[in-house]
Amino acid sequence: MTLPIGDIVDISLELDPKSFGMRTPAGFTKDMQFAMEVLKEHDAPGGAGQIVRGVHMRLHAGSHVDAPEHNVRGGTQIHQLPLGLFIGDAIIADLRDKMPGKAVTESDLTRTIGTRVKRGDRVLLRTDHNNAYDGGTDRWMKASPYLTIGATNWLIERGVVVVGYDFYHGNDEPGAPRVFHNSRTLSEHGIITMPYLKNLDRIGKERFTLVALPLNLIGAEASPVRAVALV
Ligand SMILES: [Zn+2]
Repeated sequence: MTLPIGDIVDISLELDPKSFGMRTPAGFTKDMQFAMEVLKEHDAPGGAGQIVRGVHMRLHAGSHVDAPEHNVRGGTQIHQLPLGLFIGDAIIADLRDKMPGKAVTESDLTRTIGTRVKRGDRVLLRTDHNNAYDGGTDRWMKASPYLTIGATNWLIERGVVVVGYDFYHGNDEPGAPRVFHNSRTLSEHGIITMPYLKNLDRIGKERFTLVALPLNLIGAEASPVRAVALV
């Protein structure tokens, strides 16, 4: 069977135990960095010649989606979200000139996608920063731009349903009222955040179909996804 599409562009970050890392902010009772281990070896006695591995990971490791509950107590969880959110029209906001560490303002968004964005769109914020992802160091975080409060409100007012990032999404403008203010505000408006994307330079189309389905996890605030652009 041939898919009725041109190309599949993989925009997911590799989940490689050797190179993926996450910082551990205050409040964690237990850390869970991405790690993989063998539970059964091919040559295990009575093991039927199979290998079985398991992973330790936060649901926020690698390319993933955050349901509103991540930032809102009692908010919608992954299994309560319609799958249509994760398959559909998407555009890219080219913000490469905001590297390193600059503010993304509402006028930047107006300039790059103001005439193209439609209600119900998925907007992927492109800097190409994750194409040289270094394992999540402080340097990687500090070089990531940040959305101003005005830019976050701009996205909410335009009615976008998913905001994707190819840079660290947790930075806020200096003096923001809360930690993680921008992603919290998006969650409060029911908008899904999709961090740890890459390869947005390979899409090369103004409008394309994003497919990034979460696992069918029951009772969770986030899920890994394999994010692809159909172009
Ligand atoms: Zn997350």
